[in-house]
Amino acid sequence: MKAIQLLGKEKIRLAEVPIPEIGEGDALLKVKAASICGTDVRMYKNGYKNVSEDNPLILGHEFAGDIVKVGSRVKGLREGMKVSVAPNIGCGHCDHCVNGETHLCEEMTAFGINMPGGFAEYVRIPENAIIQGNVAPLDEEISYQEAALVEPLSCVYNGQKLLGIRPGDDVLVTGMGPIGIMHIMVAKLLGAGKVFANDLSEERVNKAVELFPDVYPIYGDVPAAFEKYGVKGVDVCIIAAPAAIAQAQSLEYMNMNGRLLFFGGLPEDKKIVPINTNLIHYKQLRIQGCTKQSVGEYRLCAKLVNDKRIPLGLIMSDGYPIEDFDKALENAAAAKGLKHVIEF
Ligand SMILES: [Zn+2]
Ligand SMILES: [Zn+2]
Repeated sequence: MKAIQLLGKEKIRLAEVPIPEIGEGDALLKVKAASICGTDVRMYKNGYKNVSEDNPLILGHEFAGDIVKVGSRVKGLREGMKVSVAPNIGCGHCDHCVNGETHLCEEMTAFGINMPGGFAEYVRIPENAIIQGNVAPLDEEISYQEAALVEPLSCVYNGQKLLGIRPGDDVLVTGMGPIGIMHIMVAKLLGAGKVFANDLSEERVNKAVELFPDVYPIYGDVPAAFEKYGVKGVDVCIIAAPAAIAQAQSLEYMNMNGRLLFFGGLPEDKKIVPINTNLIHYKQLRIQGCTKQSVGEYRLCAKLVNDKRIPLGLIMSDGYPIEDFDKALENAAAAKGLKHVIEF
């Protein structure tokens, strides 16, 4: 089968590798769609621990497809099922796993991170992933693209759950890439009041307005826009852009008791950010971080997609055959378009 292997810093190849064998407790997935994430771009640019020419890694942690083979011991899965797969597999017995925070498990394994991922024609779904519920069935009418996007959606949901959006909260989302768009979707579902869509790229802001005509566009200059819209500040601010300055400035835009979500990491050389901590004190602000998603959150997001509560289909993504992975990765790295999806 064809697969995209990472070999080290800025080294990937389209390889021909054997279709994985499955054991009695495992299942085999025929991948139909796998989307590129900022993490894949970073792993390509920086290399990744333990990955080398001698120890290549098949990338891809946002993927969906059809179950084509199940081991004799597998319960709950059958051939032909359309599924999306939560990438992070907890050990199952540490305190975090027992609390349902499988993504915080220190022994976690993850598809496309430290075990073979979804940029391949087939993926072995191991027994522990099946038993822990990492495989989420999807309805027939849900596209494979949408199914693959359940992964980033559930990262977004995890962040907003921690943030605690309350009905009527005014929300500013900075960064109108696919993640920013998903933040708008989830914030609206959770009952946000006014939603402000902010990005330096006019094209990206206009795309957000096209998708959600009731959002308030902001083209980078937040104070000027707030003045125009007659608002003093927001209750919630989500920074979905790898920009230190956006993180620091956002403190200024908050109402009393405001909450900020720093979604996503910053480049290694920009990770130390000076911020005005007096604003945190005097406005009683809270800054929240988030990472990945638990299996429970993944399953919930799959249900929201099945129930058509989250219009993931609006994120019109560019599809590529696996042979054009280089091109897809290049476009993702250059932040062209929204999501870039390898289709099989
Ligand atoms: Zn991702
Ligand atoms: Zn664990």
